[in-house]
Amino acid sequence: MPEGRPAQEQHDAYDVVVLGTGAAGLTAALAAAHAGASVGLFEKGEKVGGTTALSSAVVWLPANRYAAEAGVADSRQEGLDYLESLSHGLILPELAEALVDTTAEMLDWLEADTPVHFRLVPGFPDYHPEHPGGKPTGGRSIEPVLFSYDAIPTWVDRVVGAPRRMNVSDTPTGGGTGVLAADELARREESGLEGLGRALVGSLLAGCLEQGVVPQTRARATRQVVEADRVVGVEVEGPDGVRTVRARSVVLATGGFEYDAELVRDFLRGPVRSPAGVPTNTGDGLRMAMRVGARLGNMREAWWVPVVELPGERADGGSNVFLVLRERTLPRSIVVNDQGRRFTNEAANYNALGGAFHAFDPTRFRYVNQPAHLVFDEGFVQRYGCFGNAPGTPVPDFIHRAGSLAELAGLIGVPARALDETVQRWNTMAAAGHDDDFDRGDSAYDGWCGDRTQYPGVGATLGPLDQAPYYAVELVGSTLGTKGGPRTDVDGAVLDVDGDRIEGLFAAGNAMAGPTGMVYGGAGGTLGPAMVFGYRAGRAAAR
Ligand SMILES: Cc1cc2nc3c(=O)[nH]c(=O)nc-3n(C[C@H](O)[C@H](O)[C@H](O)COP(=O)(O)OP(=O)(O)OC[C@H]3O[C@@H](n4cnc5c(N)ncnc54)[C@H](O)[C@@H]3O)c2cc1C
Repeated sequence: MPEGRPAQEQHDAYDVVVLGTGAAGLTAALAAAHAGASVGLFEKGEKVGGTTALSSAVVWLPANRYAAEAGVADSRQEGLDYLESLSHGLILPELAEALVDTTAEMLDWLEADTPVHFRLVPGFPDYHPEHPGGKPTGGRSIEPVLFSYDAIPTWVDRVVGAPRRMNVSDTPTGGGTGVLAADELARREESGLEGLGRALVGSLLAGCLEQGVVPQTRARATRQVVEADRVVGVEVEGPDGVRTVRARSVVLATGGFEYDAELVRDFLRGPVRSPAGVPTNTGDGLRMAMRVGARLGNMREAWWVPVVELPGERADGGSNVFLVLRERTLPRSIVVNDQGRRFTNEAANYNALGGAFHAFDPTRFRYVNQPAHLVFDEGFVQRYGCFGNAPGTPVPDFIHRAGSLAELAGLIGVPARALDETVQRWNTMAAAGHDDDFDRGDSAYDGWCGDRTQYPGVGATLGPLDQAPYYAVELVGSTLGTKGGPRTDVDGAVLDVDGDRIEGLFAAGNAMAGPTGMVYGGAGGTLGPAMVFGYRAGRAAAR
């Protein structure tokens, strides 16, 4: 453990108790400890880090210092204009203002007083860059610098996920090649350096440990202790039974409810399958908040993402899925519904695509774009590989393969004539250089994850399917996590059904009513708000 204050792990009473060790919980715990509070940090899982540790750890924050240092123009007003232009009435202005106005303060604090350090992901466009205030050439997506687990060696196996030695800007998703020089890889391995989600969790965790805040794992909070209308603690269930932990304030940072089938059924706006995060996110914080009369908000929303379901089990019991980003963006692939028709701009950002997956046909009374299929050709496989495989390597067996489009249509159960017409039309539009049906390639975002090196402009995402064999696999509407929960004020204080504060109770991250409504502003659009409201809640809880 790094030098710091003595560990607080044995106590049964704290100033602040934080539940959950994702970005929201760790930031809240760190902020509360820095504000002078004694902090108890409880994690239901066997390991620390939640879905955050599995993530790419990109953090979206308008008008941040790294953009300013790189000479990217951005401002508070542009950030607010952008969010407002996407709000559809779902974003509460005071929460949007708190998000944008806290960016500088939080990042300055992290850089100066903690082991958490970021840098710009150069060029990463916002997800709706043509909207007012949007940034087509990036500036708002930042990532943690590589973090060395040598600083906290006893935690290297106690954080969720496996070591990954890259930052997102080293990968194709972040504008890199995905290949590290052998000597650089060796250097990172020897130094214990990791990137992505485990870097963010590792650096936040190191900060907590410096403050004497030691996460207690296999410690599931089940309900609050309430006295005289005030939350004064929680009951925590562990291998040795249930104990009561008292606190002046409790912060719910327990992630979403995506792994609880009943909550998903009761609240989400459309069907969703195979969530991508940690399976311990079962809405415990939501149930706790409901139990004490919290007002709920943003309940129908999630961070939507299309995935392919992989065969086999995931070690932690979560859904074994592959997030489909490049495969639907690169040239020579399209997505069709069960009528064999394209239905959307395949290269749009994953969260917005949720809307296309939830389109409903009133006549036939069915979700018209489910099931959906990703269709691509041999030219795609030769150039790009698929699902993490190198270009030209065999396509995995679970993917349908056929010598002709008609045969492929039979395999996936779509009308052969319609699929053929769809592909011929797509090929004609690709040759002409414009997708007249869904404008794929028009937005500055669309080609970002495409083949930008070889084909700048729309060519990064437009390209014909004309080389047999042809391939198809079901594309499933999934989620990175839900984002509905108790409504809060700007400091994360949970409000009751009448809009009054429930004394002693705070929420942050995916456990709170998402402050950005249904918007995913840009890469990092979930972790940016999670950290800001974790920070605000942690400080307020310590007061
Ligand atoms: C593959 C992948 C890549 C992603 N990449 C990005 C990205 O680059 N940028 C971005 O912004 N977002 C990304 N996301 C989404 C992002 O990871 C999540 O939205 C974010 O991590 C949520 O943070 P959180 O702190 O709210 O929850 P989590 O990180 O999920 O943490 C919640 C924690 O609470 C614990 N918990 C639950 N119930 C209890 C209880 N009763 N008591 C105690 N603990 C409890 C859970 O076990 C968990 O550890 C990605 C997601 C995935 C799956």
